[in-house]
Amino acid sequence: MNPLQFDQHHLWHPYTSMTRPLPALLVKRAQGAEIELQDGTRLIDGMSSWWCAIHGYNHPVINQAVQDQLAEMSHIMFGGLTHRPAIKLGELLLSIAPPQMDKIFYADSGSVAVEVALKMAVQYWAGVGRPQKNNIATVRSGYHGDTWNAMSVCDPVNGMHHIFGSSLPQRLFADAPKVRFGEAWREEDLESVRRLFARHGGEIAAFIIEPVVQGAGGMFFYHPEYLRGLAALCREHDILLVFDEIATGFGRSGRLFAWEHAGVAPDIMCIGKALTGGYMTLSAVLATRQVAEGISAGGGVLMHGPTFMANPLACAVALASTRLLLSQDWQANIRRIEGRLQGLQAARACVQVADVRVLGAIGVVELTRAADMDKVQRLLPQLGVWLRPFGRLVYLMPPYVISNEQLDDLVAKTLQLVAEL
Ligand SMILES: *Cc1c(COP(=O)(O)O)cnc(C)c1O
Repeated sequence: MNPLQFDQHHLWHPYTSMTRPLPALLVKRAQGAEIELQDGTRLIDGMSSWWCAIHGYNHPVINQAVQDQLAEMSHIMFGGLTHRPAIKLGELLLSIAPPQMDKIFYADSGSVAVEVALKMAVQYWAGVGRPQKNNIATVRSGYHGDTWNAMSVCDPVNGMHHIFGSSLPQRLFADAPKVRFGEAWREEDLESVRRLFARHGGEIAAFIIEPVVQGAGGMFFYHPEYLRGLAALCREHDILLVFDEIATGFGRSGRLFAWEHAGVAPDIMCIGKALTGGYMTLSAVLATRQVAEGISAGGGVLMHGPTFMANPLACAVALASTRLLLSQDWQANIRRIEGRLQGLQAARACVQVADVRVLGAIGVVELTRAADMDKVQRLLPQLGVWLRPFGRLVYLMPPYVISNEQLDDLVAKTLQLVAEL
């Protein structure tokens, strides 16, 4: 059996039929902002492997960090032991996180970080003697991952609620933010949250939301004022605020973290994806001292401890990747990318395009109907770009190392693709 046949018959791919899979493209290597297929075809990467590979692929600095750490140890348990990569990374993360953040929990993936954040919130209220505050609220059109509790706070319509039905914990949903980033703020955007808290505030442990950028739930950029109002309402009703910055972290939205657009800090914050520059899986949950003290009140401990917690190799890579980002004028670079992504606005001329929006290093073309993925997958190698539309959304989030030439080509090819959909 040739390798692609084996893949097709035996390997599950994300959100892909096991019986009628779209053929996957066989990748040989990747370098910078370019992906090379086995047959020699080169694709300009528009996805950063789902928000992750901010420095592009095969980066010498991060490669070196892997090798250095590998020579020491790739893993050691975190129960009862600790190591310099975890400590150094922790110091760096706290120096760039909201100032209120004081404690860090290293987890394995974004979804697990969300699980841990929600457990923190529930344990906090149990710890301070208000165990009836044990449900979670969120907004519609969110995306927080694919594990059980993460799924329960994803959009109930676009998410997987219709499949898992009553086996998912029943969460409380407010309307999605409607006022766009850059539009004039309208206070009524928070009305739905206000009503939800008035009715259910006493049972809500935490409110979880992706700050400013709703990612996989619709690629929508909303007004930062929403977060300021939300934070005030959370305080008023004793509800912990959880920011899921797994997609938005590390510069993608134009700020190092998206909460900075609003200037309001959460009680708990999840980061992941670009944390390791796309080299391996690692996430972190940051929390305030108040949250940690509530959980540990009366001798309580946070009930989570993954086998690969604070994996030294992943921590060393995250440290190298984050240092690399901070050592550059990344703000100017994101502005450069944002400016060129505006070229996507030309897609508005197509009847099948409903909207085009750009924020930071994220460009979105929203179609009036779902993209034909068979067609997309066939066209991409011909166009020489790599994209992964989902539903009605064709979107770009290129590695920050992409050159102007590559970026202009990527935008032009995306316009060509959209015209054929
Ligand atoms: C991708 C993502 C997650 C889940 O992360 P995984 O590493 O895929 O488990 C959670 N929240 C947001 C906002 C994400 O974009």
